[in-house]
Amino acid sequence: MKFILATKNKHKREELSRILIALGLQPVTEEELGLEIPEVDETGTTFCQNAYLKAKSACDTTGFAAIADDSGLCVEALDGAPGLYSARYGGEGSTDAQKVQKLLEALKDETDRRAKFVSAVCCLLPNGKALYCEGECHGTIAHAPKGEGGFGYDPVFDVEGGKSFAELSPEQKDAVSHRGIALRKFQQLLPDFLKENQYAHQ
Ligand code: IMP
Repeated sequence: MKFILATKNKHKREELSRILIALGLQPVTEEELGLEIPEVDETGTTFCQNAYLKAKSACDTTGFAAIADDSGLCVEALDGAPGLYSARYGGEGSTDAQKVQKLLEALKDETDRRAKFVSAVCCLLPNGKALYCEGECHGTIAHAPKGEGGFGYDPVFDVEGGKSFAELSPEQKDAVSHRGIALRKFQQLLPDFLKENQYAHQ
């Protein structure tokens, strides 16, 4: 089944595509369709609401079922920040390295390094019906960046075993990541969701 991927973030798109293809689904991008999906203001107050806003924009523009992920890093000692604002932490247009540095600075004297990544996935059909799935991955914030892989906060997010997400292979990250967990739930729920909505997919 084809889904338009509702994200402008190249790294997230790569991960979403990789995981969906491994699950036997067919993600397509706006470039492949020769269409441009308008940028969305993330005005929601939850990850699910923001995922819906992105999926809606993609579905309205293309007429395809859309799939969007809204995600973020929630740090215990920062009362869940940067959370919904993970992409904008460090100011609009800040680089991944600047966000990571700001986070390390905020946790400079902190011994409680617990954190989790959250991913909310929304699949929206052209008839307006939505399916939501969430995934969480728990870990700790390292004292310095490690590894070359991944994106965003990956170099400072340590998972069990002490390796950062950026030190894992893509397949190792997908096996434990918030996004991998959310999308595997999505794959399980998809057949019934499509049946209930009598969606004859392309
Ligand atoms: P948004 O979902 O477009 O609002 O962006 C979420 C932001 O959270 C990204 O820009 C990253 O900074 C961060 N983020 C989400 N998922 C990951 C991940 O798997 N690794 C590293 N950073 C992530």
